[in-house]
Amino acid sequence: MQKIAGESWFTSYLQEWYDQYQRSLPWRQTTDPYRIWISEIILQQTKVDQGLPYYKRFVETFSTVQDLAEASEDEVLRCWQGLGYYSRARNLHATAKVISKEFNGQFPDTYDELIRLKGIGPYTAAAIASFCFKQAHAVVDGNVFRVLARIFGIETPIDSTEGRRQFTQLAQRLLDVERPDLHNQSIMEFGALQCTPKNVQCTGCIMAQRCSALASGKVADLPVKLNKKKVKPRYLHYFCVEDAARRQRLIKRDKNGLWAGLYEFPSIELDKEVSVTDELVTELFGTVKHWAIVDQTPIIHKLSHQELSVYLYRVQLDTLDENGVEAEFLKDFPRSALMQKLFKRLNFYYL
Ligand code: SF4
Repeated sequence: MQKIAGESWFTSYLQEWYDQYQRSLPWRQTTDPYRIWISEIILQQTKVDQGLPYYKRFVETFSTVQDLAEASEDEVLRCWQGLGYYSRARNLHATAKVISKEFNGQFPDTYDELIRLKGIGPYTAAAIASFCFKQAHAVVDGNVFRVLARIFGIETPIDSTEGRRQFTQLAQRLLDVERPDLHNQSIMEFGALQCTPKNVQCTGCIMAQRCSALASGKVADLPVKLNKKKVKPRYLHYFCVEDAARRQRLIKRDKNGLWAGLYEFPSIELDKEVSVTDELVTELFGTVKHWAIVDQTPIIHKLSHQELSVYLYRVQLDTLDENGVEAEFLKDFPRSALMQKLFKRLNFYYL
């Protein structure tokens, strides 16, 4: 494989830095591919300190891939609750079943087999292959894009086809093939702690003398991204429908789309200007005893590409509701972080 100038300094600086600053994390004390896989999927969407309790809870609840395969979808979603990106939890579950059935419960040990599994892309396959099986595959995640763009002064957008190709090739050429696990851990940790998106720690950085972005004053401009996320505003109206026995109506969302498979109050999406009316409530729930908005100020709930303004109502029925759930059992249903906010707004603190 072709070497680039400076490869050895890059590796030795990186690993020297890692020896000194690495955090002690549970998934670094193991080479069990199941645990590495769980940690990597969790860390794709959350920072280490926020993801740590979820990781611990997940591997305590499902301590082997077999345990995960045998769990129900509701159990998996409940354990994932609060992390968001629920399709990742469903993919974990589906892949655990495949590993259990088709691989006899043994995790595949090659990059090519790993990448064929649902929910495992190039990054996760490289992480598992290198951390667990010492295979020479470079990881390329947001941290790696940032570190390489700055140190090597690369201005190709990281969200372009050419950018992905260029950064992947560079990362692979820089990889310490003797110790790919250590190298990959080091570069990701360097991006997470030293060469960060904001409050970057250039003063005293081990790479400072070699860093192109620092020399050219472009640290804040790199990496370059083409498409800034457009945030779409949405206006949702949720109804806490209580029947004559004081049970709340819960419905399960569709298998596809946002919060698929989670449970929530009935809801409707309306344009900003449109308010809920008596006619609409009757259309949705039939004749009701009483209904009222809980708070005129909406709950704002931000997702990666959407900002939700959420209005909450209480609706009381005179009748019994076949979808009604007694308050003490609401906590048993997997739900989104938004539903958790609605529970709090209703003073359902015991949930
Ligand atoms: S000098 Fe600054 S920009 Fe360059 S690698 Fe170090 S932290 Fe990153």
